[in-house]
Amino acid sequence: MKDIKRTTVKALLSDPDKYIGSEVDVKGWVRTRRGNKNVAFIALNDGSSIKNVQIVVDFAKIPEESLKEVTTGASLHVQGSAVASQGKGQAIEIQADEIEIYGTASVADYPLQKKGHTLEFLREIAHLRPRTNTFGAVLRIRHSLAYAIHKFFNDKGFYYFHTPLITASDCEGAGAQFQVTTLPLEDLPKGEDGMVDYSQDFFGKMASLTVSGQLEGELGATALGCIYTFGPTFRAENSNTPRHLSEFWMIEPEMAFYEIEDNMDLAEEFVKYCISYALEHNRDDIEFLAEHFDKGLVDRLNFVVENDFVRLPYTEGVKILEESGKKFEFPVYWGVDLASEHERFLVEEHFKKPVILTDYPKEIKAFYMKLNDDGKTVRAMDVLFPKIGEIIGGSQREEDYGKLKQRMEELGLAGMDWYLDTRKFGSVPHSGFGLGFERLVLFVTGMQNIRDVIPFPRYPNNCDF
Ligand code: ATP
Ligand code: MN
Repeated sequence: MKDIKRTTVKALLSDPDKYIGSEVDVKGWVRTRRGNKNVAFIALNDGSSIKNVQIVVDFAKIPEESLKEVTTGASLHVQGSAVASQGKGQAIEIQADEIEIYGTASVADYPLQKKGHTLEFLREIAHLRPRTNTFGAVLRIRHSLAYAIHKFFNDKGFYYFHTPLITASDCEGAGAQFQVTTLPLEDLPKGEDGMVDYSQDFFGKMASLTVSGQLEGELGATALGCIYTFGPTFRAENSNTPRHLSEFWMIEPEMAFYEIEDNMDLAEEFVKYCISYALEHNRDDIEFLAEHFDKGLVDRLNFVVENDFVRLPYTEGVKILEESGKKFEFPVYWGVDLASEHERFLVEEHFKKPVILTDYPKEIKAFYMKLNDDGKTVRAMDVLFPKIGEIIGGSQREEDYGKLKQRMEELGLAGMDWYLDTRKFGSVPHSGFGLGFERLVLFVTGMQNIRDVIPFPRYPNNCDF
């Protein structure tokens, strides 16, 4: 092989004029191979783009015999001349001078053959599915969204604040927690009362994986002004739905001096920014997914970016649902925690727009939300999206020490003095929200199941790879 600097497939395809007429060096995996008795056409993909570059091999130059192991999945190093392509759908191709096979992929064993595979089957081979066009597209979009999130907040002067993954507070109430322990489960130390003696555990008390970084995020916001977290979150709820994972990533901005309206403005601007970013930077991937899974995808994304979200109090939302005459699986009445079917009715059938539902009954929301003057509802805001239902949950936080303490006592929450201190010393109005990262990726990719938008999904009875 000659000493030529490697070019990515993406670079070749996005600027063909720069390369045509010169010698190039590419590396990647074989997607398909076809041809006749004189030439072989190899579609090579290196992960940089949904598109492949076509390698043309003339058997007069490279004997067919040496290409026996060039099959789907094999990895290659190719050098040759970049030429204008005669074929349709590509501007540039490579006429190979030399091909080195890095690794073969036996046709008998390699599970990803040319025929399409179901998403369910691909979940069983999650270690290989990033090699498919579909998962390549999803994972590139996922990356872009993560980058857009950091860019959005950085450009607004927010600080990336790291909250702990192991926590001893079980007060968040957002979901069931996974316990973290080094105690021997088959021989637990017990106290006189027969209960487990956690003073002998690793942290000297009971500890768990976090379900949300919010409470610690508030500590950051009430010092740095505006912060956001972006990290893994764990929920041990046994919810086998297409919208829940046991391990997912959450973005939680928290802002001092923001009232609920500022919070809604930020949430709306933020999701629109992320979607626009993906539309601009991942066009090929989005179009691929639209073509194969969801014809309405691009229109839906544009629609969300271009329209104002509806802002509606919970009480009015419930009225609309009650008067809709629609038969829901779960009953609707004031005070109920809305189910996904209710949320989706409001968004998809009634308003046909994303909806921010506000002012929920305090009983169905977390203790830290600011009580409205009616004494019954709290300043909560859930952002509801078509196909997804709840994508964001947030609120203005109760900043009044007395009210917050009373609410925590009502609910029997103790051992949270560090949290109450934010209200004791220089308390300020503040707000924040949580966006489930995978729900955003789900929306932008048009995939149906949240297990297909994270490389290695964790859900009940599944912890492979
Ligand atoms: P849901 O009602 O959909 O179960 P939640 O009310 O429990 O969600 P929050 O506690 O408000 O969710 O969490 C904030 C955000 O995190 C949600 O709006 C959602 O986008 C996301 N989220 C919550 N639970 C999960 C989960 N198990 N898997 C993936 N994302 C989740
Ligand atoms: Mn919620």
